[in-house]
Amino acid sequence: MDIQNDFLPGGALPAPQGDRIAPFVAQLISRFEHVIATKDWHPPGHSSFALFGSHCIQGSWGAEHPPWLDQRKIERTILKGTDPHQDSFSGFGGGELARVLKEWVVKRVMICGLVTDICVKETALEARRLGFETGVVRDACAPLQEEKEAIAEMEAAGVNIYTTEEIVT
Ligand SMILES: [Zn+2]
Repeated sequence: MDIQNDFLPGGALPAPQGDRIAPFVAQLISRFEHVIATKDWHPPGHSSFALFGSHCIQGSWGAEHPPWLDQRKIERTILKGTDPHQDSFSGFGGGELARVLKEWVVKRVMICGLVTDICVKETALEARRLGFETGVVRDACAPLQEEKEAIAEMEAAGVNIYTTEEIVT
């Protein structure tokens, strides 16, 4: 989720280690039946910019996926944060993601991407609340600041934390 230039080194709101997830994400994408991407997709002047600074503006370079992300297996892209006055950390905001997963009869979701301590965490917690068996692949995620508390909070909510190796072997 949210694997976008602005959340990577060189972008407006970067996860310092964001580029390190590239090989892990590539391995995961090749292993799953369905791959859904999310994009933070803000109109100019979005309310979240007061806190985070301007980032992921619709149609800008910063909102695009980086060249290393193989987009061929992405079946659906969920746009989030499109309401000028409301932010959505979770990929489930707006309801489209839950609808798609229901339509595909998906029971288990595995989450990777950016950033561990905000959007990955909120998406994983919401997936649990909605009743999905939920995993987060830790080395295929990178935090904006710190991941330790986020990992603990997710584990406490019943999210399974994995490494890529555990998933692909
Ligand atoms: Zn945002």
